[in-house]
Amino acid sequence: MSHSSRRAFILLLSVSMLTAIPAFAGHSWGGYHWQKGSGPVVLQLGDNVSGVWDGHLAAAERDWDGSSVLDLSVGAGGTRPKNCRPTAGRIEVCNARYGANGWLGLAQIWLGGGHISQAVAKMNDSYVMNEPEKLHVMCQEVGHGFGLGHTSEDGSSQNTCMDYYQNKNGSDWTSTTTNAHDMQMLDSIYSHVDSGAKLLPPPPAMGYIDFVGRGQWGEEVFRSENGRGSTFFLDFGHGHGVLTEVYWAGDQNELNHDQDPDAPAPWMTPRN
Ligand SMILES: [Zn+2]
Ligand SMILES: [Zn+2]
Repeated sequence: MSHSSRRAFILLLSVSMLTAIPAFAGHSWGGYHWQKGSGPVVLQLGDNVSGVWDGHLAAAERDWDGSSVLDLSVGAGGTRPKNCRPTAGRIEVCNARYGANGWLGLAQIWLGGGHISQAVAKMNDSYVMNEPEKLHVMCQEVGHGFGLGHTSEDGSSQNTCMDYYQNKNGSDWTSTTTNAHDMQMLDSIYSHVDSGAKLLPPPPAMGYIDFVGRGQWGEEVFRSENGRGSTFFLDFGHGHGVLTEVYWAGDQNELNHDQDPDAPAPWMTPRN
């Protein structure tokens, strides 16, 4: 899809749904952000990852902490990796064998009144990823937790982990770190100071959903040009909702690892 037709598609989506579905143009998820005081946003990344992923988490934290509007640290995990439940005010990062569900990584942000209240980032060990791709996925899922979207969705590289370039092998480190544009985006998303407004408490119904499976993510509101990413939105009304960003597996090696090799790749099947 061309740039302009994609924009028209997004416009059509937002007009036809007439709800609080966010705009996906640009490089942020509709400007969603954590509440910000006069200093940087202080956020902890909950370490629910195993030793295989510890280095990737540390690298992602270092990279994103390069932003002047974020003050990040890695802290003890607050959940079990398998269900990866959110904790208010932080980003829980998890890895587990989530099954042959087609995705390598997943990020979710909980929204209330335009602000992010909590987030999770999950890496799926049911698929084989080379080391650079692991870093790519980790860095991207954590980046979504700050309210960032993708820089490109056609598979080309902007040399940022927020693109959908596919790392070819274990020595292809393209697109595994943040770039200057990511930092500029964060600066603009977090350029304002919130005037002490309290976050609205989430509706109780939000607490009754595990958000672990596709059926619990709400409606697929966007799919990337190369099919590697989908955005789902579950609307709870009154400005509350959960955004889920799915990073689908790319090549057949990844897909075949845990899965019937004859099954169609999830990213090749049509929507709905
Ligand atoms: Zn704000
Ligand atoms: Zn993504």
